[in-house]
Amino acid sequence: MSKKRIFLSPPHMSGNEAKYIREAFETNWIAPLGPNVDAFEKELANYVGVNEAVALSSGTAAIHLALILLGVEKGDRVFCSSLTFVASANPILYQGAEPVFIDSEPDTWNMSPDALKRALQDAAIEGKLPKAIIVVNLYGQSAKMNEIVALCNEFSVPMIEDAAESLGSTYKGKPSGTFGEFGTFSFNGNKIITTSGGGMLVTNDHDMAQKARFLATQARDLAQHYQHSKKGYNYRLSNILAGIGRAQLEVLEERVAARRTIFENYVSELGSIPGLIFMPELEGTRSNRWLTALTIDEKEAGFTIQSMLDRLAEENIEARPVWKPLHMQPLFKGSLFYAHSKEQDIAKGLFRSGICLPSGSSMSNADQQRIIEAINTELKINTLLKR
Ligand SMILES: *Cc1c(COP(=O)(O)O)cnc(C)c1O
Repeated sequence: MSKKRIFLSPPHMSGNEAKYIREAFETNWIAPLGPNVDAFEKELANYVGVNEAVALSSGTAAIHLALILLGVEKGDRVFCSSLTFVASANPILYQGAEPVFIDSEPDTWNMSPDALKRALQDAAIEGKLPKAIIVVNLYGQSAKMNEIVALCNEFSVPMIEDAAESLGSTYKGKPSGTFGEFGTFSFNGNKIITTSGGGMLVTNDHDMAQKARFLATQARDLAQHYQHSKKGYNYRLSNILAGIGRAQLEVLEERVAARRTIFENYVSELGSIPGLIFMPELEGTRSNRWLTALTIDEKEAGFTIQSMLDRLAEENIEARPVWKPLHMQPLFKGSLFYAHSKEQDIAKGLFRSGICLPSGSSMSNADQQRIIEAINTELKINTLLKR
């Protein structure tokens, strides 16, 4: 008999979701839009402290609308973090624009201000500054926002903060997702809170938020007959799913606390293994620790990433390598890439040595112990073999 599967980051319901869904059914608001959507938008805007939030069908849709609202068109350039999920950059392609990928730095694993600076300087000389910069907060950890925002201001380029993985995190006390012209969140099933699928676009600009709502509902002009003068999208979140989101948002702080505890347990149980280095948390920031990530120095640890992944798979435990950087993806072959320094491609190094461990907020202590034991077993076997 095989052991119970432990997933990387499964959905974790609070129990209140059904209440909001029932309300939607009882009032027959089975539609995109409705009272749950309005309330979810207000509640999320309050939580992160912005004027406006627009509930959408996915985080990808939120990034896409942000690019459209910033005027990104065919042939334009958009800078984007390289070490991220493909959804950060796919909307650049939807617009026919050209992505330029920016490497990570070692302190946060996120966009390197050094690489960004060089990329902006080159682009300025060429007369081809990007229309937008998409900055990702990987696995919940904020990028170096002070440095990045300063560069965005210096070159007058707007920033989109892809906070899909960092809802509930802060940078110097300020909530993640509020550092750019736009912030985007995801409520996909694997994220820290979920609506099964969904996203949110946040901004302090009321007009931009209204435009986003307009574009997300097929761009219908104010007319009784269906009249359209702009290209629109069907990107709104359903009133049922927004109900799930409202209940999930109520327990977000608990979810962050649970994931941080899971991270700390991993560190206290595995932190003394030579060669294992856990993802850092930049001073002055709080990561939601969406996923516990670490790197393995294969020489020091005596085992490889692959052997660890295989061992966990054997135990029916889902673990994953760190995102494959976008500048290494076949989809983006030929795209420009700016490394952290001449000698260092940090994102590539993190991909080669990095692994994400199961981090779901509903994971029991016993399940986490199973994962820790599997890793310790791998360590012991390899240590014995070397003797
Ligand atoms: C999940 C994720 C997205 C996309 O969100 P969806 O809701 O799945 O479209 C975008 N960027 C990052 C970094 C993500 O992890």
